[in-house]
Amino acid sequence: MSNPSRFTQAIQQGLRRLTGDHGAVISPYRLFDLQLKQRITLSPSLTRLVFTGQNVAVMSSLAPDQRVKLFFPAPDGSLPLLPNGSHWKAAHSALSPQQRPPMRTYTIRALRPEALEVDVDFVLHGVNGPASAWATQAKVGDPLQMLAPNLAHAGDPGGYEWKPPQGVRNVLLAGDETALPAIAGILEQLADEQPDLAVEAFVEVPLESDCLALRHSPATRLHWLPRDTLQCAHGQAMQHAVRELASLPQGQAAPGGRLEEVDIEKRILWDRSSSTRSEFYAWVAGESAAVMDIRRHLIKERRLQRECLTLMGYWRAGRTFD
Ligand SMILES: Cc1cc2nc3c(=O)[nH]c(=O)nc-3n(C[C@H](O)[C@H](O)[C@H](O)COP(=O)(O)OP(=O)(O)OC[C@H]3O[C@@H](n4cnc5c(N)ncnc54)[C@H](O)[C@@H]3O)c2cc1C
Repeated sequence: MSNPSRFTQAIQQGLRRLTGDHGAVISPYRLFDLQLKQRITLSPSLTRLVFTGQNVAVMSSLAPDQRVKLFFPAPDGSLPLLPNGSHWKAAHSALSPQQRPPMRTYTIRALRPEALEVDVDFVLHGVNGPASAWATQAKVGDPLQMLAPNLAHAGDPGGYEWKPPQGVRNVLLAGDETALPAIAGILEQLADEQPDLAVEAFVEVPLESDCLALRHSPATRLHWLPRDTLQCAHGQAMQHAVRELASLPQGQAAPGGRLEEVDIEKRILWDRSSSTRSEFYAWVAGESAAVMDIRRHLIKERRLQRECLTLMGYWRAGRTFD
């Protein structure tokens, strides 16, 4: 990803010549009109939706945990029809709440701009939220809009947190099924680019039949935590795994430091690693209460340096964050 292909460079140059996006400033993100091309059932809880659209040629993805926003049909049933390009925000705000398409965050699992295809892996948790409901019922040809990085933008658009520091020797990955698409991509990237790096990954999923065959390096120890066989509630298995099973380094942070609480009922837990050089790096994502517990354990009890920890509440049980 750090070395754009000749295809990518040619597209960027062409787009810059045309100055894209109606003017001088090329937005880092833009809106893409997509149609559902294919449904692939990966497991009982996870379905891959392959989307296509002419503009996918100018979409980019910078890291395996690249996040995007998806817009779903509004409460009144109207389809998301925000203006294509970078001027979607004002149009979104101008709509009445009944017409405004709900927006949710997802991960690009794979992007194939040459084939005009982008994959998103959806957890099907029921029809109690607009995203899961849409993904459960969507048919080939159904439209959807996605806010994603714009290839024409020359700088770093952000929207990803997988940033292993220089000199890293041990990586801890932990997450639930919503983090599985990102973790699967991270493991593939490490297998290709850093096959000797010691990686320990814990992935909690609803069912034993959700344990997928992921491609990873021989230096990776991948532990599946299916809630049905472990007979535990959401988040318990990943908390237990990080507390009891993970090989963590000796903590070096000064004792007694204050750890500010995050009110996960009101805001999203999002601690970003800031370390540019560290032997240990942890990337943790999933249900916010579980990630909060892991945060407390790693920082307060194990006294790990916060700078080498990325801790993200991907969703909160019983809540909706748009
Ligand atoms: C950076 C980032 C990347 C993400 N990537 C992915 C991804 O690739 N695939 C993916 O499936 N999800 C992903 N998520 C999580 C996804 O955004 C949330 O699960 C989202 O709430 C789903 O929206 P919804 O409309 O289905 O439900 P909402 O309307 O948000 O919620 C309705 C109800 O469902 C509950 N709920 C929400 N999600 C789940 C769940 N997974 N299991 C059980 N109950 C749930 C809520 O607590 C609430 O009670 C990601 C989140 C973030 C922040």
